[in-house]
Amino acid sequence: MRTVYVNGDYLPETEAKISIFDRAFLMADGVYEVTSVLGGKLIDFAGHLTRLERSLDELDMKKPAAFDNLLDIHRELVRVNEIEDGLVYLQVTRGSDGDRDFVFPDRETTEPTLVLFTQSKPGLAQSPQAEKGLKILSIDDLRWGRRDIKTVQLLYPSMGKMMAKKAGCDDAWMIEDGHVTEGTSNNAYIVKGNKIITRQLSNDILHGITRAAVLRFAREAQMDVEERPFTIDEAKAADEGFVTSASAFVMPVVEIDGQALGDGTPGPVARRLREIYLDESLKTAV
Ligand code: PMP
Repeated sequence: MRTVYVNGDYLPETEAKISIFDRAFLMADGVYEVTSVLGGKLIDFAGHLTRLERSLDELDMKKPAAFDNLLDIHRELVRVNEIEDGLVYLQVTRGSDGDRDFVFPDRETTEPTLVLFTQSKPGLAQSPQAEKGLKILSIDDLRWGRRDIKTVQLLYPSMGKMMAKKAGCDDAWMIEDGHVTEGTSNNAYIVKGNKIITRQLSNDILHGITRAAVLRFAREAQMDVEERPFTIDEAKAADEGFVTSASAFVMPVVEIDGQALGDGTPGPVARRLREIYLDESLKTAV
């Protein structure tokens, strides 16, 4: 049985409890981070911590008391749960003042809720999916307008993933005004004539930690990067595509709405970036 962390305590998962009045349960008033673990070490941890702080600030949510100990808590959970490869999920919510109200509870008297748990994923970096590539379905982007904040409001992305599965695809790319915003749980890229194209940062997309690292490595390797919106038609006519996220790293896209990209197999740019990302991020893993 897993050991999880709840508000200062390490507990067996069956003994962990949260109030039914918790703001995340009633109003999705919570933010989260997912950090991957490879060889028992945390990948891009500093980036995830910085983004967590930003999400909390943007929602005027108090930092949990244990904020400065988050690295130790992550490491302790990885250790006690014997995670070699996998994920650490972290969630902070606005907590509970013992009732339901649209007005935020008093931040002086209501402590945020802090929960962390691990997921074991042996061989996470050797995913067979990376050899096959993803088939993508395009869907409307019906999410709210602050997608830069990593909230637990994941119902539409979850529905999008189900729409994709039902259509025989692996994942969905979301479209707004004809342009791709991002994947259900990843940032989206196309490659055309050796140019890597991905939407620029704004409130429209999550500022992916993996995105930041991959674009830095791409530029260091003298690859051409253009940050701008691209249309779904442009994507279908691209040479290749890929997505990035903390749990999938760099994952090739081989098909969009039944249209094969290039020869329909993972492209050279996606393959190379996956290799570089895994090599480089392991060097700075903690
Ligand atoms: N966009 C969305 C909507 C996501 O949910 C995620 C993963 N949490 C990402 C992008 C990728 O972000 P990261 O690389 O930080 O995992």
